[in-house]
Amino acid sequence: MAQMYYNQDINEKVLEGKKIAVIGYGSQGHAHALNLKESGFDVRIGIRPGNSADRAKNDGLDVKSVAEAAQEADVIMVLLPDETQKAVYEAEIAPGLVAGNALVFAHGFNIHFEQIVAPADVDVFLIAPKGPGHLVRRTYQAGAGVPGLIAVYQDATGQAKDLALAYSKGIGAARAGVLETTFKEETETDLFGEQAVLCGGAVELVKAGFETLVEAGYQPEIAYFECFHELKLIVDLMYEGGIENMNYSVSDTAEWGEYVSGPRVVTAESKAAMKDVLTDIQNGTFAREWIQENETNRPQYTAKKQAVKDHQIEQVGAKLREMMPFVGQKASAEVVGK
Ligand code: NDP
Ligand code: MG
Ligand code: MG
Repeated sequence: MAQMYYNQDINEKVLEGKKIAVIGYGSQGHAHALNLKESGFDVRIGIRPGNSADRAKNDGLDVKSVAEAAQEADVIMVLLPDETQKAVYEAEIAPGLVAGNALVFAHGFNIHFEQIVAPADVDVFLIAPKGPGHLVRRTYQAGAGVPGLIAVYQDATGQAKDLALAYSKGIGAARAGVLETTFKEETETDLFGEQAVLCGGAVELVKAGFETLVEAGYQPEIAYFECFHELKLIVDLMYEGGIENMNYSVSDTAEWGEYVSGPRVVTAESKAAMKDVLTDIQNGTFAREWIQENETNRPQYTAKKQAVKDHQIEQVGAKLREMMPFVGQKASAEVVGK
């Protein structure tokens, strides 16, 4: 079992007096910056001009260019989209790094896959809240927190882990509990989860179920309710109280169907495919292809995005959601790290 750290285990003094730069002011950036500031730490924002910069100014923060913020800070938290981190790091962050600085991330992709190689005299660690930025902010304001992961990749000062723990306390994560991991484990499991289960797995499961009913002559609207809309209700029950809690709430017929038919759909073959997906993550194939896709202006990404948009389930869903204003648009789109 993983070791857990809580507020009382952590001495935040190690981070006091240090200048912290939060680079980026999106989902994670706004939550980290505001929580750290309210915890009494010295925060500035490094951001390009635009919507995020305006928001940070409106929120009363000290807003600078990325280069300026990174240059003056001791602790530089990189909360840019993962695909842009390498270019911004090379142009605007690296020139300002000096020995003893800390280069910090909320996801290990760029360090683990060696897109960013920090100088040896700089600490490199991560603090990854296990939730979207808006939840990190909201729970902090309510006196609680979202659990987090910390990992140390490079410990030049001998203080990297203590700094990571102090930072996690500053954003409220240690109120809920902080687990130690490695960059390898955080990166590979994050990618696997979103590909095999959360985004990739769930979307394909829903589409296949919808298509099966529609191809058999059932009305698309009914198929949408049965295979898409109700998924949230089921997942909420699992999230709140485990599989047993979900089974308690559904009918015994539904539970029996789960036992006999679930394994006919997600088979040993599906699990073997999951292992292949994991292998491609571990050996760097997935990362290499995604980096290449970005370097060539995302031709496949764009085509696949359009195909989803054109799928009947999206057209039917848009109409039905208009009938259900209570469904609404939520910030939960960023639950899974981008
Ligand atoms: P967002 O897309 O929400 O925000 C990115 C921010 O970076 C925006 O403020 C954007 O500003 C800014 N930005 C983009 N390009 C540049 C640039 N070239 N120069 C300066 N600023 C730029 O990102 P997230 O908060 O989702 O992700 C940040 C990190 O956190 C990632 O490493 C991600 O993996 C990780 N993470 C995310 C989680 C999540 O739930 N979202 C959960 C855990 C980790 P602008 O408005 O100008 O575009
Ligand atoms: Mg039903
Ligand atoms: Mg992710």
